[in-house]
Amino acid sequence: MASITLNNIVKKYDDGFPAVNNVSLDIADGEFVILVGPSGCGKSTLLRMIVGLEDITSGELQIDGTRMNEAAPKDRNLAMVFQNYALYPHLTVYENIAFPLRLAKKSSGSNGDSTEGANGGSNGGSRGRSPGGAGGGSVDDRVRKAAEMLELTEHLERKPANLSGGQRQRVAMGRAIVRQADAFLFDEPLSNLDAKLRGQMRAEIAQLQRRLGVTSVYVTHDQTEAMTLGDRVAVLKKGELQQVASPRELYEQP
Ligand code: ADP
Ligand code: ADP
Repeated sequence: MASITLNNIVKKYDDGFPAVNNVSLDIADGEFVILVGPSGCGKSTLLRMIVGLEDITSGELQIDGTRMNEAAPKDRNLAMVFQNYALYPHLTVYENIAFPLRLAKKSSGSNGDSTEGANGGSNGGSRGRSPGGAGGGSVDDRVRKAAEMLELTEHLERKPANLSGGQRQRVAMGRAIVRQADAFLFDEPLSNLDAKLRGQMRAEIAQLQRRLGVTSVYVTHDQTEAMTLGDRVAVLKKGELQQVASPRELYEQP
């Protein structure tokens, strides 16, 4: 787990107009923060800067108090959960969940099942591992433990095409869990699901986040998700942070 600090973060794309403008936000260890705002307000840009897929124009990103602006994505040890699941269609559920661990093992050159698998063999990702969840043990143990938490045990040999939308979403989360990432970053993970499933998955994500206690940033344009999921809601508008408050404070506002 880790704290994430944004200090006056600015992102300007080629047109020079700030897509994210002077955003400052302290996200505590284990906290669940929702980033909400209309389409085009800069949510994805902000998330991509945190994970390292987009350069920061100015300002500073810190993870556990260490400047991370220049760190490669793999050295940030953050796990992104996408709306389109990004699962490998030719791999089973088991293999999809195990994938980040196998990848990490290969790149760190170790053999045998290792507990070090989750940080990509990097030198920057060894800050405190998340305590709960599928931590420790062999790759097989970790995959099975994650599958159990996500109620995917009976589906481990299936391919993504044979899963429901909700199950696919859970596989995507399983991947994030086995990596023992310092934080989860959710990019509108439920927007492809129908309303009923969305409600169900919302509850599951909230429950899982609390169980794991892993720092999470969740991007959505959906007010209901914003008001029900997290500890705090950060409202973005035209690239600027308008307000940061608990759901209750927002709700009770005149
Ligand atoms: P959101 O996720 O809230 O919908 P984005 O972060 O995708 O918002 O976009 C914020 C602003 O930045 C928008 O005006 C968008 O057009 C612009 N933008 C996003 N990505 C790029 C890019 N790769 N190049 C240029 N402009 C971009
Ligand atoms: P690849 O080498 O597969 O093309 P990238 O170059 O996009 O992957 O990223 C390299 C590393 O950065 C990955 O191994 C992964 O650890 C990390 N990474 C990339 N995208 C993400 C993401 N969306 N969320 C978390 N980590 C990511």
